[in-house]
Amino acid sequence: MTVPLALTQNNADALRRGACPSLATPMQTGDGLLVRLRPVAAALSAQDLVALAGLARQHGNGLIEITARGNLQLRGLSHETVPRLSTGLAAAGIVPQTGVAIEVPPLTGIDPSEMADAAPVAAALRAALAAASFALAPKLAIVIDGGGVLSLADMVADIRLDAVPTVDGVAWRLSVGGDRASAKTVALLPPASLLDGIMTVIAALAVLGPAARGRDLDAAALLAVLHATPSVAAAPLPAVHPLGAHRIGNETVLGLAPAYGQVHAHRLSALAKGLSACGATEFRLAPHRSLLVRGLSGEMLAAARACADREGFWASDDAPGRSISICAGAAGCASAGFDTHTAADALAAAAGTLLDGSIDVHLSGCPKGCAHPAAAAVTLCGTQAGIGLILDGRASDGPVASLPADDLQPAIDRLGTFLRARRRDGETARGLIDRTAPAALISAYQGKQ
Ligand code: SF4
Repeated sequence: MTVPLALTQNNADALRRGACPSLATPMQTGDGLLVRLRPVAAALSAQDLVALAGLARQHGNGLIEITARGNLQLRGLSHETVPRLSTGLAAAGIVPQTGVAIEVPPLTGIDPSEMADAAPVAAALRAALAAASFALAPKLAIVIDGGGVLSLADMVADIRLDAVPTVDGVAWRLSVGGDRASAKTVALLPPASLLDGIMTVIAALAVLGPAARGRDLDAAALLAVLHATPSVAAAPLPAVHPLGAHRIGNETVLGLAPAYGQVHAHRLSALAKGLSACGATEFRLAPHRSLLVRGLSGEMLAAARACADREGFWASDDAPGRSISICAGAAGCASAGFDTHTAADALAAAAGTLLDGSIDVHLSGCPKGCAHPAAAAVTLCGTQAGIGLILDGRASDGPVASLPADDLQPAIDRLGTFLRARRRDGETARGLIDRTAPAALISAYQGKQ
């Protein structure tokens, strides 16, 4: 099926940060148009990945990204090539999802430790939404989490359904505006009233208007409308990073991530072929910019990791760069003020164990902040005035200090040396930054200590 494409200069120009880039509405960036897509099929074959890589090279600049929510992004396209990409995807049998983003754990239906299979719930909801035709916020996200080893506990959503055990079996905890821990609890829904319940919430959002998000909903008012049992806060689940080897039932699943979430098409193609030769049978996109590989035997894990390493993928959950988000930078985007890849390598080397997963660091070529729209503990951003330092903010926020791009490497080294020297035994990077005065961080960045 070819995705309908009605791309005109007007609607392309209308694309902005508030909209989600897709085949129908690609987003203009410094290196051309960007298309974000998530295949309908949960599992991709090696052949699918090779086809995607070929299309990225043929119609874009060959740069492929996996986003924090596990979507694919193809960069460097043009108004002429986006329709050809759409045709090529259809020819390869890769069908992109459309409509509201409904996210389920990447191994749902496979992981015997999950409480419930989220896939049938998601399918029923997609069908109900298609029939209802609500006008909803373009970035609306719904998470349906049945639990399991790689649950979506840490994924923020407008509306969440989390499977929880009850005396009568599994029920679904409905909450709005957050991740499993922070979302506002609304109600406990038994499976029989699940679809009606969530559609009631979505109808309430539609009434608020096409810009309304989950955080705008009144949980108490919703509970009254639903006539449902109130729910308590969800029990915490351990946040397991997809990177590395996971025992799922009686199989091993290997989580990989392209370094800093980006890979060139020829390396993705080589990875798919190399892992296929190691026995890989399927690939699944996953949160945290990851790709899960199934079908590898224990004997072939080392060879698969070596293949990943050769092609620029991380395969272990202690890869320091996993905490760093970078955009295409000067290597792939005309808007960038510096080479984000080189800076990320310098940062990973200077920070070492400071990148313990407790903080996000964002290197953004410009204030658009493509790679990490949310706030990060530390952001280095290319601006008119140089490379800005932003603390606990977004790339678009005003920097607290700026330096010429040529001074960035020594500034990164100084920050790393300063923070490593202050760190207490066993202290997380988050704890360290929280007890460090911003003025001291600014001084280290500027070399004024
Ligand atoms: S954030 Fe990066 S990729 Fe996005 S427009 Fe700016 S420089 Fe380009």
